Amino acid sequence: LSSKRTALILCFSFAISLSGVFFLRSTLTQNITVDYDYNPKQTIRVLLSKSTKQHKIFLESSCEIIAKYRRSYKKDNSFYISISNNSLLLNGKSVGEKIEIVPDNYGVFSLDGKRYRGRISFEIINDTIYIINTLATEAYLAGVVAAEMPAYWEMEALKAQSITARTYSLFIRDTFGKKRNWDVRTSQANQVYRGIAAEHVRSWNAVNKTQGLVLTDPESAQENGIFPAYYCSVCGGHSENSKFVFGDSFQALSGVECPFCRETASNKFLNWGKFTISKKEAFAKLKKKYPTLEKLKSLSKILPIRESKYETFSRITRFRIVGTNGKTDIVGGEDLRLTLDPSGQKIKSCATSVIYSKNSITFTGGKGFGHAVGLCQYGALAMARKKYKYNEILAYYYPGSKIKRIY
Ligand SMILES: [Zn+2]
Repeated sequence: LSSKRTALILCFSFAISLSGVFFLRSTLTQNITVDYDYNPKQTIRVLLSKSTKQHKIFLESSCEIIAKYRRSYKKDNSFYISISNNSLLLNGKSVGEKIEIVPDNYGVFSLDGKRYRGRISFEIINDTIYIINTLATEAYLAGVVAAEMPAYWEMEALKAQSITARTYSLFIRDTFGKKRNWDVRTSQANQVYRGIAAEHVRSWNAVNKTQGLVLTDPESAQENGIFPAYYCSVCGGHSENSKFVFGDSFQALSGVECPFCRETASNKFLNWGKFTISKKEAFAKLKKKYPTLEKLKSLSKILPIRESKYETFSRITRFRIVGTNGKTDIVGGEDLRLTLDPSGQKIKSCATSVIYSKNSITFTGGKGFGHAVGLCQYGALAMARKKYKYNEILAYYYPGSKIKRIY
């Protein structure tokens, strides 16, 4: 089954991604023809939002609406969907707890002005509308790759990123999706997805050229051998063992020396200097995220208690939080960093030192940007410029992994 699509791409994006990089692209308009095999078994369900508001759907192609009934509609129709008395309303009329809109021939629709591929469903769960976009995994990846890595980067780096994003997405889908009615979120908690607006012809090419290719790890418990192929922006000199960051252990995620990102990343990521926060503010943020920390009364110190030591730096993977009353608790390195700085832009990594004054805590001498597990994106860019192929880049950053075609 092959589906050929032409899409007008309007691209202006400013997003924070799984890897933590901000990309600002200029506005560009392209007419591209998107070719991909639509394999109905290889779809992914993206939770676009949880909402109680009214939403507008506009159909760019003819479609079928499935609720208590099935009805066909011609293109250029608009619908309003809202919630009332635990029922969905379609243009003001009650249609039950679930409604699905299926564009014919895999067409395009827009939700509140944002364009998407595939179909969309609205379902009430606990008085909230879950809005879920189900689409071909490959079409989803085209949007993700463009949001996670600049489309003008070397094609071999984009291909490596495509395989990494595919592996990660399918791992999340197959591991967590079975227990819920969606597979992935749209935010950096998973991978950034903003529908058609983010797509780029070069990202589409990278996804198409690697169609169905994933990475496998000998320690995977999945039938197809995939694992959570994390990736990061700038490792700073050595990638980190996933065991110490996310708690999961895979040979491919054990960490490698990276002499590459220093050739391509800017100094604001390689040596990001320092960040100071008052103990009062730090404790307020920590208590909000971890209410049990209330027992510490107020904050005395944040002590690094586990570090990975590398030649040029060390990375803190666990902190002890010490209260003024002497009580303590333990928080993971990345958890602490992103609690004190949810943007990830100020305390850019855990490859840092911590110093104290009476009222404040300073993170200083910081190196790298992001959690540093898996592929180092700026390292991949440097390798691609040195004419390494995507398979060589992946073999380097995911030691012991193998590339396999699963569809
Ligand atoms: Zn690196």
